[in-house]
Amino acid sequence: MNINLTQNKNFKTFKIFSEVAAKNNQTLFIVGGYVRDLLMKRQSPTDIDFVTEGNGIELAKAIAKELNPKLKVSVFKNYGTAMFKHQGLDLEFVGARKESYAEDSRKPSVEIGTLEDDQKRRDFTINALAISLNKENFGDLIDPFEGILDIKNRILRTPLEPSQTYSDDPLRMMRAIRFASTLNFKIEENSLNAIKNESERIRIVSLERIMVEFNKIMLSAKPSAGLKLMEETGLMQLIIPELTALKGIEEVEGQTHKDNFWHTLEVVDNISTNTDNLWLRWAALLHDIGKAPTKKFVDGIGWTFHGHEFLGSKMVKNLFYRLKLPLGTDMKYVQKLVKLSSRPIALVDDGTSDSALRRLLFDAGEDLEDLFILNKADITTKNSSKQAKFKRNFEEVAIKIKEVEEKDQVRNFQPPISGEEIMELFNIKPSREIGILKEKVKEAILEGEIANDKDEARNFVIKEGELLGLKIGI
Ligand code: ATP
Ligand code: MG
Repeated sequence: MNINLTQNKNFKTFKIFSEVAAKNNQTLFIVGGYVRDLLMKRQSPTDIDFVTEGNGIELAKAIAKELNPKLKVSVFKNYGTAMFKHQGLDLEFVGARKESYAEDSRKPSVEIGTLEDDQKRRDFTINALAISLNKENFGDLIDPFEGILDIKNRILRTPLEPSQTYSDDPLRMMRAIRFASTLNFKIEENSLNAIKNESERIRIVSLERIMVEFNKIMLSAKPSAGLKLMEETGLMQLIIPELTALKGIEEVEGQTHKDNFWHTLEVVDNISTNTDNLWLRWAALLHDIGKAPTKKFVDGIGWTFHGHEFLGSKMVKNLFYRLKLPLGTDMKYVQKLVKLSSRPIALVDDGTSDSALRRLLFDAGEDLEDLFILNKADITTKNSSKQAKFKRNFEEVAIKIKEVEEKDQVRNFQPPISGEEIMELFNIKPSREIGILKEKVKEAILEGEIANDKDEARNFVIKEGELLGLKIGI
């Protein structure tokens, strides 16, 4: 099969590369994800991988020189690769190679090989396709493992024996599940069984690499596809056991609770139809993790998960730390949403007093809309009248919150009276009393005792200050 590259937007670039390779007496092929995505008519990626039989670094340098003598080429000698940027593309070159693996490492020892050797070392048949950029067969598709058929049938298959492939480099197990989830492909049966058998080997892979793939699963259109595969293969239990701990339904005195693992997967899918924000999707994934350790059957009441949001938000921190996820604002955001995840629902049941609404506004601040997106996604009941009722309740809370917000403006709360103003008022130096008075002002506003207003706050501070033994300065 020949791929007509003349209409490709990189045609001119490919032509120049082809000529330089011929001049250097080297072969040249496009391989990997670019070829796959081109054949699947997916959006053309901006990173392109090239293989040459011979020295990849030298060829990269020769091509870069032809394009622009000043072009900077980054060389990774250990990997035998070189890359440079050209017209918004990230172009990577490697010499064709043969790989063999040691038991305890996913870094292979490498020998020089042919194109076919190089295709064999790739993870999936759909990633092992190559397009020739050589003069004699420019555009020919080289497909020794029937990758094109697997694209057509939407199947992930390894070029070589699957157990060996996954055992050699266990990251490939996560890649298999990631591609299954993002491309909506099936993992071929032998491959799936091999992943189940080799799952323990994931331990030799760094968490950073695992999480790159995991986050791609989280960003796919229907993340549950990948998350289910992780559960089925045992990888979820090894990587995020806090989630598999949510699996199962218990029954006491005829009362059951829902299976919070499968519920969580539904919530993640629901939220993914409304947001591409990775961390909001993570909040959905973790919103119930506190439920396993807090689960209790209480006589006369039934199943309870007392304080699960609070414990859950603490667990988020440990989990992010262990998984080597970023520990800054993204983690705090996930913690906050997990902690607040039940508050709007509780408001529905409480008959929504204004002070409770003000407190939620104050605590959620700029993340209130995201909290509502999470709450809507959390409605997974199959009973359509229940579902309609939950949604209506929510809309009511949302409307009331809006009213309170317009009236009191406690979102992104700024104290109406500052510490300096309090010091001036009582003619005192920085002291403990100032913190106490500021906290009292905030509480009085949230409780609705005074309005969020400078004069009211000032009068309130004078009264409270006197109770603390302070006197207005002259
Ligand atoms: P993406 O769309 O995510 O970039 P990709 O297939 O291009 O997908 P890369 O990680 O960019 O993935 O890798 C480029 C190519 O290198 C792959 O298509 C595959 O042929 C090969 N490859 C990458 N990682 C592995 C691996 N762990 N084992 C074997 N081959 C791999
Ligand atoms: Mg790529």
